[in-house]
Amino acid sequence: MATFHTPDTLEEALGLLHDLDDTMVYGGGTAIQILLKQGILFTEHFIDISAVPGLREISVTPEAVMVGPLVSLRQMERDERIVSAVPLAASTYAKVANPRVRNTASVGGNIAHGDYRLDPPTALMVLDATVMLSSVRGTREVYAREFFVDFQVTEVQPDELITGIHIPRQPAGAAGAFVKYSSLAENDWPCASAAVLAVPGEYTELRIGLGALAPTTRYLAFDIESDMSDQDVVDAALDIASTAIDPIEDIRGGVAYKTRLGRVAVEDGVRAVMKELHHV
Ligand SMILES: Cc1cc2nc3c(=O)[nH]c(=O)nc-3n(C[C@H](O)[C@H](O)[C@H](O)COP(=O)(O)OP(=O)(O)OC[C@H]3O[C@@H](n4cnc5c(N)ncnc54)[C@H](O)[C@@H]3O)c2cc1C
Repeated sequence: MATFHTPDTLEEALGLLHDLDDTMVYGGGTAIQILLKQGILFTEHFIDISAVPGLREISVTPEAVMVGPLVSLRQMERDERIVSAVPLAASTYAKVANPRVRNTASVGGNIAHGDYRLDPPTALMVLDATVMLSSVRGTREVYAREFFVDFQVTEVQPDELITGIHIPRQPAGAAGAFVKYSSLAENDWPCASAAVLAVPGEYTELRIGLGALAPTTRYLAFDIESDMSDQDVVDAALDIASTAIDPIEDIRGGVAYKTRLGRVAVEDGVRAVMKELHHV
């Protein structure tokens, strides 16, 4: 039987993660409860961080938003400050599961879960977000693009707690789209997803985050040359995506099906942002 610890301070939480063996941080519990019910989670100590002050905050500066790990996915979808500063993030969080899950699940638990099908990491990668990881050794900052290491493996070490996600404000004139295709039900896990962000500059940079299409979330980017037509941009995006698409067969689809759907998600995302760019 696991022991539940409910620290009142961040120092206490980090101390428990450092001192105890076989710990697991308890965020919203939506993933943990399923694993417990399936009888496949054997952890000795849950560290419930719900009483630790300051972990539910959203703060906004002219440059970025900083989101506490216990902010719910529903807040990311609905909070006016998030919607206006990082609309691509808000629209991506809005596509996770259903309102019941989004009301309970936390942004920290979402990325720490490390599932290759997660939706939010695709947007966090293209938005150049970073993740704060704290332990008794101090706090380090890891790019979302480097956070997802491999199948079910993230950068979070056993004694670390995610204490924030820093998301730079969506650049002026940027166009973003999140596309998700599911095969079982509309609000089910995806079998292919793509977040696409076009960032204007000397060259417009096209950034793509791929979800559910490889053992972990994948990030790709290239510059759009001034003489490229929209079809050229789509072709270039599909070329680069084909180097990263490497799906896992599961009950939601086989490799060939997910590969096809992944290419459709990329094309639809790219066409949506190109259309928006032409209207800016
Ligand atoms: C029915 C259902 C459908 C779903 N569909 C989708 C979907 O379509 N798209 C999608 O993206 N996701 C989907 N999910 C997954 C969902 O997004 C995750 O379950 C949820 O985001 C996990 O967040 P949580 O706070 O509940 O995490 P928890 O269950 O509390 O924890 C999950 C993991 O994160 C760790 N953790 C939690 N907080 C921290 C922290 N601050 N620091 C370090 N580690 C931490 C825990 O130790 C555990 O390993 C679905 C889940 C369910 C139940």
